[in-house]
Amino acid sequence: MRYLVTGAAGFIGSHLAEALLEEGHDVVGLDSFTDYYDTARKRENAAGLDIVEGDLLDVNLDALLDGVDGVYHLAGQPGVRASFGPGFEHYLSRNVHASARLFESAARRRLRVVYASSSSVYGDAESYPTGEDALPRPISPYGVTKLCVEHLAYAHARTTGLDAVGVRYFTVYGPRQRPDMAFTPLLEALDAGVPFRLYGDGSASRSFTFVADAVAGTIAAMARGHEGELYNIGGGEEASMTDAIALSEQLAGRELHVERHGAAAGDVRRTRADVRKAEEQLGWRPTTPLADGLRAQWEWVAARVAAP
Ligand code: NAD
Repeated sequence: MRYLVTGAAGFIGSHLAEALLEEGHDVVGLDSFTDYYDTARKRENAAGLDIVEGDLLDVNLDALLDGVDGVYHLAGQPGVRASFGPGFEHYLSRNVHASARLFESAARRRLRVVYASSSSVYGDAESYPTGEDALPRPISPYGVTKLCVEHLAYAHARTTGLDAVGVRYFTVYGPRQRPDMAFTPLLEALDAGVPFRLYGDGSASRSFTFVADAVAGTIAAMARGHEGELYNIGGGEEASMTDAIALSEQLAGRELHVERHGAAAGDVRRTRADVRKAEEQLGWRPTTPLADGLRAQWEWVAARVAAP
């Protein structure tokens, strides 16, 4: 098969593109290398991948989709905190407008799109573990744009025949994790012996999801996802930031200097994924314990820092 992966120079997209290549597929990537974080990291992620440098907002999609059998749509503007204030404009253009343009082209060509949504759509969820049927009530502008993308997919499914499957990722981590997420700066601070800025009191918890598990769930959604459905792709273990810090200190064999800051706007208190729907319909469940995934990320951070 030949797949288009949007956001292929990003954290999850680059792992996904590599996994598809390993399975013997042809992969063309698209990425605009936004400067939301250091683009040098994206160039590192992209090494060895065939990536068209272009923006979903204006790239010639018909040419790009020619000969493609399916689309993995991971391009977007992530991050909860930066979605407040003037940066919101990027969330509208890179999440909402860009997805709308892709959905229209994919629907014309009858191509399945598996697109990245987020646990952020749940906000402070009604219940835990949270199933896909829980009322989505995001508490960040980022989450609002991801929910909007889900509704766009539904609207196109009803009107233009779009075949879309959404995956709601829960805090993905592992090698190449974005530097605005918690573990990369935490492990880099441990490595360098400098303070780590912790937002909140450490009790906030997440269904942390190892990137290889997230990729496997995404590929399963292309193969077995039911048309128009949404799936939680979340780690099996819920852990607090305090737990993650303790595990990281064990890995590094040294203590982390923690600089405490107030909780950031838009950060939810807790996430816990109910993955029974993905288990039943996709045959997927997360398999990587947090300790193993963190070790892989720690080794990546250490190797990166040691590289000339
Ligand atoms: P990332 O920022 O590393 O990757 C996204 C990539 O998309 C970037 O390389 C960026 O340059 C590219 N991009 C942005 N706008 C574009 C456009 N208009 N045209 C082409 N390329 C564009 O982020 P990530 O952590 O790999 O996340 C991937 C997707 O998963 C995003 O949609 C994100 O919202 C979603 N998601 C991620 C997580 C997580 O824990 N990492 C959780 C929930 C949802």
